[in-house]
Amino acid sequence: MTNSSTASQSSIVLVFVSLLVMSTPIAFVSSTNHEIASESNGLSIILMIGDGMGLEQVKLGRWVEVGPNGNLTMDTFPYNWSVTTHSADQAITDSAAAATAIATGFKTNNYMVGQSPDGTNLNTILEIAESLGKSTGLVSTTSYFHATPAGFYANAASRNDYATITQQLVDEHDVEVILSGGLSQFTAGQLTTMQSNGYALVQNKTELEAVSSGKILGMFDTGYYPDEPTRDLAVVPSIAEMTNKSLEILSQDADGFFLMVEGGQIDWSSHDNDIVGTALEAIAFDKAINFSLQYVQEHSNTILLVTADHETGGLAVISNTLSQKLPSDSDAEADNRNLRMERANNVTTTWTTTGHTATPVPLFMYGDALIAFPATYSIDNIDIFVIMDTYFSGGTLNSTIFETTSTTTTTQSSTTTTEPSSSTTTETSSSTTTEPSSSITTETSSSTTEPTSTSLPPSPPSMEATILLAIGAAAVVIVVLILLRKR
Ligand SMILES: [Zn+2]
Repeated sequence: MTNSSTASQSSIVLVFVSLLVMSTPIAFVSSTNHEIASESNGLSIILMIGDGMGLEQVKLGRWVEVGPNGNLTMDTFPYNWSVTTHSADQAITDSAAAATAIATGFKTNNYMVGQSPDGTNLNTILEIAESLGKSTGLVSTTSYFHATPAGFYANAASRNDYATITQQLVDEHDVEVILSGGLSQFTAGQLTTMQSNGYALVQNKTELEAVSSGKILGMFDTGYYPDEPTRDLAVVPSIAEMTNKSLEILSQDADGFFLMVEGGQIDWSSHDNDIVGTALEAIAFDKAINFSLQYVQEHSNTILLVTADHETGGLAVISNTLSQKLPSDSDAEADNRNLRMERANNVTTTWTTTGHTATPVPLFMYGDALIAFPATYSIDNIDIFVIMDTYFSGGTLNSTIFETTSTTTTTQSSTTTTEPSSSTTTETSSSTTTEPSSSITTETSSSTTEPTSTSLPPSPPSMEATILLAIGAAAVVIVVLILLRKR
């Protein structure tokens, strides 16, 4: 009798201790979060957009570079979210409307950049960064005036109005680092203006390497930046090298920076249903992500977001007869490229279109300030702006930031939250509830062991949870008592 009662007492204690542990993680994380939020000076964002990069493009790159069981850099990120991409007027977005949504937090019509459907100019995250005294940078493997980069600085009814877009970059902005193709789009006068505004014009890898501070205009082709299968490896810097140089320059600004890096030709290769091109572009993009990741790991005041504007091609990667040999950093770049091409040719794919699709795209994130986010989540592309804008303003990053904006920013966002597919239904429905703190707690307990934060006091919904837990605890105690009695 004494034995069993001590045993039951200790099991009761155990049950309550574990209940306590389950209900407390909230307290200590919010203090970390608070520290990050209060040190808003110097906050920086690296946003990387794989144009046309759906999860299957990522998979293709993975199979070719590291094999089906390996990980690309982006695969290792702690956050892997799903993003809906429709534009204001189309179920399937183009790059212009998607860039505008990500850059401004507003949906617009296809082909428009930096403007709402009625033609109103919108403020972009790059402009917000400029107004906060931060440095800014744009890197693209297409050209600086193409839809994705243009969405971050231009206001135009048509993405094809390259003259206006270029003029706005030259006359209305002070983007410290511009690296892409497209030199011939600048007039001679505009180039003179840029140089008298302090830009060093560089046109190859050696010249890029020689610049270590100040403003750079790096134009690596008169037309579009070359594609990965044909790029002159000795002359044209890779997207990874452009990203690395951008970080070296921009990080010298104590006020912080905003850098957008576009892997632009994942989209073009996918439009061509080209397996080799798509694989090589996705891998090159991932190499650039690796430099950004190293930077963010060393700088806790920076967050890294990797996403896509839409999927292209309706790609499905279905089988392979891959060789054992993998590309290796110790091999020559040209050899690795040949090996990648050979491996890509041994992957079987199907494509359902030569256009874009409405498939949700990934958002991989990395950074200390994101600690209160759930590991998996479903959002709309305008919410990417919300994350960046909230971060720059020193606000706390947790899933409650989407609820405020989905009701106030645009009408589109409220319609999207109800759309996502069944796999994410639970998370989506909790994100639309009016009680932020409860939705976070629910998601954390189900999807991740990482403690979530909320600085809010325990709110009514946790009552239900407490009652459930109490009933569960009572049941456990009863079972334990019965078992001990039977002994
Ligand atoms: Zn695109």
